[in-house]
Amino acid sequence: MKFSQIKYERPDYESFGKQMNEFAEKLREAKTFEEAYAIHQEATKLYNHLASMLTVCHIRHDIDTTDEFYEKEQDFNDENAPTIEEQHLNYSKAFYESKFRKEFEEKVGPVAYKNLELAIDYFTPEMIPLMQEENALVTKYEKLIAQAKIDWEGETLNLSLMTKYTTDPDRETRKKAFAKTTGFFMDNRAELDEIYDKLVKCRTAQAKTLGYDTYLELGYARMNRNDYGPNEVKAFREEVKAKLVPLATKLHEERRKRIGVDHLYYYDTISFKNGNPTPKGDPDEILAQGKKMYEELSPETGEFFNFMLDNERFDVLGRKTKRAGGYMTSIPDDDNTPFVFANFNKTVGDVDVITHECGHAFQGYITRKDCNEYRDITMETAEIHSMSMEFFTEKWMDKFFGDRAEDYKKYHLEDAVCFIPYGCMVDEFQHIVYENPDMTPEERRKAWVELEKVYRPHMDYGDNECYLTGGLWQRQSHIYSMPFYYIDYCLAQMVSLQYKAWMEEDFAAAWNSYLEFCKQGARDFYSRSLPKVGLSVPFEKGCLDKTVSAIEKKLNF
Ligand SMILES: [Zn+2]
Repeated sequence: MKFSQIKYERPDYESFGKQMNEFAEKLREAKTFEEAYAIHQEATKLYNHLASMLTVCHIRHDIDTTDEFYEKEQDFNDENAPTIEEQHLNYSKAFYESKFRKEFEEKVGPVAYKNLELAIDYFTPEMIPLMQEENALVTKYEKLIAQAKIDWEGETLNLSLMTKYTTDPDRETRKKAFAKTTGFFMDNRAELDEIYDKLVKCRTAQAKTLGYDTYLELGYARMNRNDYGPNEVKAFREEVKAKLVPLATKLHEERRKRIGVDHLYYYDTISFKNGNPTPKGDPDEILAQGKKMYEELSPETGEFFNFMLDNERFDVLGRKTKRAGGYMTSIPDDDNTPFVFANFNKTVGDVDVITHECGHAFQGYITRKDCNEYRDITMETAEIHSMSMEFFTEKWMDKFFGDRAEDYKKYHLEDAVCFIPYGCMVDEFQHIVYENPDMTPEERRKAWVELEKVYRPHMDYGDNECYLTGGLWQRQSHIYSMPFYYIDYCLAQMVSLQYKAWMEEDFAAAWNSYLEFCKQGARDFYSRSLPKVGLSVPFEKGCLDKTVSAIEKKLNF
């Protein structure tokens, strides 16, 4: 269905809550599995309708933040959606405790049950006031960052607009731009420290209501870590330290030679003397090239992209009245079909929408007929779909970057490799912080400085006070808003590099594996899903060896 034809109606929360309670009751009393299954399907339909209305409202509000109707509806939904949590949890419990669990597991898989277990076991009503405090602190951080005002040559810019200058081809401009942005973080250090300190203590207090000493277990449960724990993640980080850090150091040196400087400093953010490649063409041209690319890649991707175009599923033009940022979501009522929201601004980010966000959207599209439980994937899996699509579409990059397509590919691969050590550093930092909740802000900064030496020994912060004293992490919003999330990107990037190495050898085989992996969704656990399609699990010792040597070969070391 075309997006404009999808009808929005205000959700009736009271009736939803009542019906959910009734479904819970009926499910508990069901005599046969057939009866229970029919109830579950009805409850799912009701839930999907509510989710669809919330999504449609959200998208339409984001598309035009001055539209009064959707602004009112958004406020109404923000206020009322939390009121049905309890009834929804009541239904989830009835489903979890159903005497037909064995039969249900055959229909919806074991992962869904493990997720429900995490949701139920890691919650007590005692946490609610602390959760509200946590949300308020995260909002406070986000506002502080969003409202940053940087004086730049007579203009007042926010931090995201400053990126243009911190990646400028001119070295002095970059250095000056970094001095300005890190100056903001120095000026606000005391407040940023205070917010984070309160967040760590608040999250630890929530864990204590469940009987844990630290936030670690609860943090993992909230990330839906249904298949692995801190030990596996640690093993992965150790492999990264041993195998990827030396590779990133080599890449650093290669880049130094390429941009022709005697020594690389933190502000040398460019990959080429003439700057990083930017896409050519306006948004319509980029979409038209995307269409050709996906039609050539496979019948499945061609069908997907045409569906998106024919049904108004891209809103990518940057407009003044539109919300900033980008995302992919889906509309359960309309067969779970995807929608992609973005603000094209003539940077590499525009192409990321066509490759990365469309990787997410493509997986959503080909699993649209699956049950909700199979579609409920965790982040380390979801990011494999998107990050790998960035590599599978590399062949077509000349459509977007013209004669700088090769530069783009080089930049992209280097970026992927160098990201993983950084991401692991963010993860290890959070383990240190949450395992030692009484650390002072000063001690946390020292810990960060030590981690920098391990994960980025080649990084030189010159005379930048903010970075030299371990202040860089305060820019990383995930550390404040989503504890332990960052490692998901690293795990997924590692798998996408496996695909990159594989497609160099045999593109068709790698693509078939990817297609199968997308279709699996959450049918099985992460560590069992990867080997089924010929991929290694990043926690296994030596898992990185083959990929790293293939990448080194590709980069001609
Ligand atoms: Zn993503």
